This record gives sequence, C-alpha cells and structure tokens, in this order.
Amino acid sequence: MKQRIENMDLKEKRVIVRCDYNVPIYNGKILDDTKIVASLETIRYLMKNNCKIIILSHLGKVKAEEDKRFNSLEIVAKRLQELVGRDVYFNHQILDPELPKRIDLMLPRDILMLENTRFLDVPNKLESNCDAQISSFFASLADVFVNDAFASSHRAHASVVGITKYIPSCIGFSVEKELAALDRFLKEPEHPFTVIMGGAKVEDKLELIKTLLPKCDHLLLAGGLANSFLKALNFNIGSSLATESSATIESLKQIMLEYREKLMLPLDAIVGSSYDENYTRYKRINEIGDNEVINDIAIKTLEKYKTAIEESKTIFLNGTMGIYEDIRYANGTKELLNSLKKQDAIKIAGGGDSVSAIKNMGFESAFTYLCVGGGATLEYLAKGHLVGIDNIMEASDIEVLDV
Ligand code: ADP
Ligand code: MG
Repeated sequence: MKQRIENMDLKEKRVIVRCDYNVPIYNGKILDDTKIVASLETIRYLMKNNCKIIILSHLGKVKAEEDKRFNSLEIVAKRLQELVGRDVYFNHQILDPELPKRIDLMLPRDILMLENTRFLDVPNKLESNCDAQISSFFASLADVFVNDAFASSHRAHASVVGITKYIPSCIGFSVEKELAALDRFLKEPEHPFTVIMGGAKVEDKLELIKTLLPKCDHLLLAGGLANSFLKALNFNIGSSLATESSATIESLKQIMLEYREKLMLPLDAIVGSSYDENYTRYKRINEIGDNEVINDIAIKTLEKYKTAIEESKTIFLNGTMGIYEDIRYANGTKELLNSLKKQDAIKIAGGGDSVSAIKNMGFESAFTYLCVGGGATLEYLAKGHLVGIDNIMEASDIEVLDV
C-alpha cells in the first residue's frame, strides 16, 4: 500500500507538496484551472491540520533562459489565492538562503509557493537530473513531503523522487484517486471489457496495447494506430500517418496472430489529400488512393464499434479516433463518445488529448472517471508502477533486512 496522507501525523507540521500546476496559459491568462482545482482537497486538508504549506510545481518547458519569461508560476499562485480565499505567498528565487527563515515566520495554514522547479534546469538540468543537493534542499524546508502530482510521477525529478529520500513522504488525495480508479478497472475489470485506442503514433502505445490485450475482450483501433495495423495487413493506406519501422510492423503482425478475435479495425474513413488542403472524401478502407490520407473513422466503423460498446461493462478509452483538432475530422471522435454516453458501464478515459477532446466536446459527464495524469497514466497502465510513487510506501511494507 502507498502511504496515504490521512495516515500521516501532520498536525502543525511544515509540509511541502508537489502539485501538478502545469496549466495551459495563453496571453498571460490561465485557460483551464482544472489542475489547480484538483489540488484543493489536499491543500484544504493541510490547512485543517494547521500545517505550514510549501508548494512546488513545474510549468511548461524550460530549456533556456528566455523560456523563463513565459513560465512563471506567479499567475498560478494568484489563481490559487482566489480559490482558497487566503493569501498565497510567492518566492521568485527557489534556492533562496532566506527561505528557511521565511518559513519559520509563516503562521499555521499559511501557503508559500516557490517558482517553477524547472527554472533549476537552466543551465544544468538540476531538477530533471534529480540532483542530490537540490533534492535535500527541498527536503530541508519541511517535515513531510506530499506527492499530489500524478502527471509528473513518471519523472525521476528532484521535486518528485529526490526529495522522498530525505523526509517522510505520502501521496495526496488526487494521486490516491487516480491510482484507485486505474487499479479498480485494470486489476479486476468487470467483463466484457472493451479498450478503445486511437491517436497518432503506434510506438507510443505499443506497450500499453500489449498490457491490455490479455485482459480485455475487445480492442477497437483507430487513428494512426489503426493505420499501422492496416499497413501490417498490406492494405494501401496511401499517405496516412503510420509506423515506418519494420520491427514495429513485425510486432503488430504477432499481435494480430495472437489476438485476432479481440481486435477490431476500421472499415471506412474520411480522407484528406497529401497535396490538396480542401480535398476531403468518404472512402471504404480498401479504396484508399496513394495520395489520400486517413484522417478519421466513418459510419461503418462507428456502427461496428457500437456493437462491441453495447455489450461492455467496462470501457477504457485512450487516443482520439481522428484528427479531432480539425472540425472536418472530429466527427468520428464525437460519434464514438455519443455511443459511449448511451452505454451503462464503468467508463474511464486517459491521455492528454483524449481528456481534452472529451471536455471540449461536452462529454465529461458520460465518464465514470477522467484520468488526470496524461502520459503518466498511460505509463502506469502499461508498467503497473511509477518511479515517483514507488518510493512512497507504508512503513509496514518496507522490508526490514535481518542483520
Ligand atoms: P492522448 O494524448 O489522449 O494519449 P494521442 O496524443 O495519442 O492521445 O492522440 C491524439 C492525437 O492523435 C491528436 O493530435 C490527433 O490529431 C492524432 N490523430 C488521431 N487520428 C489521427 C490520424 N488518422 N492521423 C494522424 N493523426 C491522428
Ligand atoms: Mg497526446
């Protein structure tokens, strides 16, 4: 079992929390504050326990000095302040020698957010390389560490993994929820269990496909993933996105031999053209021309996939059915979501684009649970563990060696 926040003695302690505040920002405005809202349960719990709360998070990509200008967490501190209805103090300098003094002066329930941890990556990648000095500095600021950033838990970074080596650590409520939802359906899914996978690159999803196939009853494929399977079956997929690797094609052939009964592939498509942006047509899957590009699934495929959905008790969705960012190729995803909405089952979706498509198309309420972890969710499903959570065990689970 993972060490839960509710099993820790936190009363009046200094607690450092790793949050996932990697929110989308455009023109100086937060476009979606879901991640900030998701952290409130943990933060309010710490406030109830009269803790001094120190918050760490990363934001965006920080590869060079100039990236810092657009990736300050200060805007997030302001939004958090509005949400908790209490001052959220902000420290621009992370490795600030005055920090311990500042924390000493904090009152119980006070919140202090430090600047974007990835600022420490310029120039020496100290955060991302899990530098020991940075890790122990973070740990020196508090008595207890809470990992509430599921989406960063596949990264062995100082603020996620390094710090757990120095102070007692536990998982926060949002991490606990994500683990519970994934474990519940992955370990003992109610059958029939249908997995629906789309998206762009098959290589990104191959491990997950191999993990889920033995457990599921149906695997419905779409997107670039399905294109690669069709290519392995020698269909002409024209200029569609598909794997170029012969090793991957071999793997897909093996998968199809072993699991042919479970696999479903598209029967038809909405295609574009490799040279004419305005060209779009309906095509059966055996009629694709050399210059055509499969961009979405179409009616016959949706009808076939519906038959599997209608007999399912558990459904997991990852990846979109087509290039949903383009309105002309969003219909497959939308209609598939409509079928899912009508089906009474445990329905879970994971992956950054999938969850964002579900929200933008208004299907949030059709799901039992939407995973918050993006790539970390997929890695947990594929491997069954995450580097950022492995270290956080209950004391009773830690093996004591006889000497
Ligand atoms: P998630 O982020 O949920 O794991 P993916 O990133 O795998 O999902 O899938 C979404 C991406 O896949 C989108 O950017 C979409 O444009 C792309 N995609 C879906 N179908 C196709 C297709 N037929 N050809 C090219 N790209 C596709
Ligand atoms: Mg994606």
